[in-house]
Formats: sequence, structure tokens, C-alpha cells
Amino acid sequence: MRTLLMGIALLLAAPAGAATQGVGSLDGVPIIDALDVGDVATGVQRFWFRAGPTPIGQPWLVPVVVIRGAQPGPRLMLTAGIHGDELNGIAVLHRLATTIDPATLAGTVTLVPGLNPPGLLQSTRQWAVDWSRSAPNLNREMPGKIGGSAIADFAGRLWNRLIRPNADTAVDLHTQSRGTAYMMYAFASTPRTRRMAELVAPDIIKMDKGDKGTVENTATDDGVPAITLELGRPEQFDDVMIARAESGLRNLMRDLKMLPGAVTPPPASLFVANDIIAARASRAGWARLLLPLGALVKKGQPIAEVRDAFGTLLETVAAPVDGRINMITTDPRADQGGTIARILWWSADPACANGC
Ligand SMILES: [Zn+2]
Repeated sequence: MRTLLMGIALLLAAPAGAATQGVGSLDGVPIIDALDVGDVATGVQRFWFRAGPTPIGQPWLVPVVVIRGAQPGPRLMLTAGIHGDELNGIAVLHRLATTIDPATLAGTVTLVPGLNPPGLLQSTRQWAVDWSRSAPNLNREMPGKIGGSAIADFAGRLWNRLIRPNADTAVDLHTQSRGTAYMMYAFASTPRTRRMAELVAPDIIKMDKGDKGTVENTATDDGVPAITLELGRPEQFDDVMIARAESGLRNLMRDLKMLPGAVTPPPASLFVANDIIAARASRAGWARLLLPLGALVKKGQPIAEVRDAFGTLLETVAAPVDGRINMITTDPRADQGGTIARILWWSADPACANGC
């Protein structure tokens, strides 16, 4: 309670023009329109970030936890739930919020466990209050535009008033979407961010130029090294995946000198790839996988079989390259041309070193 009161007192005492803009409180938690972690008292502080209006005249409120360490140091930004059916990262951030001791922390960790309230409410990857797959993707909208369209405004507030001003390093946590599954998997786009990904110790790192408008790429392009961390399956809390991610992020914090202790080197089993290819069903029907997620495959090796409504074999889907299965469909209903699995592999083309 004492630290919370200190946080509120500090907000109220902040001089005009200070970056953190407090606008009230809800159940004792300050509501803010902008955050500068430099204004926040040492300790663990919770906020509601007001991310713009909804069509029903109420604000979108995004939860934020700031852990300000006793010692100065870097500012690490950890975000989760930008896709509303991807939940494991939220539990990872909840664990860090309740277990990092500010007394042993150098620097500041900002945790945003739920960037996309409408998507989380509807369990959809998309942002709008809409189940359609054509609804907009918040992770293609950064840096947004305050005063623009509804999603551009929402993204603009998140980016310009919460994420970017408080990040020296960033990790955006995801999972695969409904009907599919990943291993623990990180995207990186530069040698520096590859090193970050290695410290988190996923099963696979994909060097990837990325898509315009993602948290990861918008940050990295703006000089803030960032990775996207994928944590398995959607719509669940997977304790093994959550524990691995928490452990990996703590290792990254040790490397950044934010937490004490020795840095664990990356596991020898880490599989690094720079290209990806989909194995697709050429016929619609019932697909059954013949290999598990994570299997190493050779080009031409059977991955799945597709059967018609009577169980007659229509086709066997084969691996298109030598590589590792990093994604599978968990829904056996295959569309014609639908992806059954994705295979990661390493292209020797020098132009592909940081992603093809
Ligand atoms: Zn995602």
C-alpha cells in the first residue's frame, strides 16, 4: 500500500509537462494517458493505461506493471496479448510482475499483460470487436497514428505514450493462433536480436525480416532491439511453456545486468533457421499428422495424410525441404491448399543471413 500511495503522490506532484500523465484512479490504481518510467517510484507500481475511446463511450484500459529497480539500469519492455487468442505470454508477465524483487533489480521492467482488450474478450487474433479474419491486425499497425482511424489511434497511443518512450530493449510475447500450434520459437532480425533470442533459449530461432507494423520490427527499426517470442498453443495457459519463457527472460535480464547471477549459455540443441516453407494439402479433407511438432524431416518424407469423408486416402503430404517442423495444424479439417505444417530450414544464400 505504501509504495502504491507513493506512486500516486508522485503522479499528483509531477510538474506540468512531465511525461507521465495521471488522469484519475480506479480501485486505487492510477489511470494514465502517458507513461515515463523515469517518473515512477522505486518498487512495483500498477497502472491502467487509457488507450482511447470505445464505440460505447467507455475507454479501453490496458494493464501496466512497472517494476522500478533500486539501482539504475536499462529499461526492458515486455508486452503480451496483442493477438487476443494468444495467452501464455500474459501468464509469463503475471509471474514476473509478482516475483521480480525491485531491491535486486537494476533498471526498469515494464510489463503490459494484455495489449488487445477487444481481441482478448472475443478470443480472436484480430483487434476489432469482430470475429472475422479480415478484421484488422494490431500487430501490423505500429507506430499507429493518434487521431487516425480507431485502430491507428489505439496503436498510436500504445506506441507513442507507453511502449516506445519506455523501451531500450523489447520482447513481444505471442503463441500460434486458433487451430494451430508452435514450438517455443523466437523471431529475430539482426545479429544483436539473435543474441537476445538465444539467451531466452527457445527451441527454434527464425531469422526473419518481419512484417511492417509489428511491435518487434517497429522497435528494432527505431533502434530498440526487439524480438517476438512465440510460446506454443493458443487459448490456454501452458505451465511448461510459461516456466520456460520466464526462465529465459530472466536470463536475458541477467545478460543486460538487470538481475544478478550468471548468464546461462544457449542450449546446444537450439535450431536456427532463416527460411520457412508451408507443407500444404492439395486436396480438401481430413488431415492426420504422421509426425509431431518439432520433428526433423527430410525432403519428401511423409508429414500427413488426407482422407475423404469416407476415410479413403486422398493424398500424402510430404516435407518440401530438409528442416524442422515448427508449426502444425491442430484442426484436422483441411482446406484445399491449406497449410498442414510449416518447415523451417537454413538457406545458405548469403542474402538470407538475417532472413530470406
Ligand atoms: Zn501473435
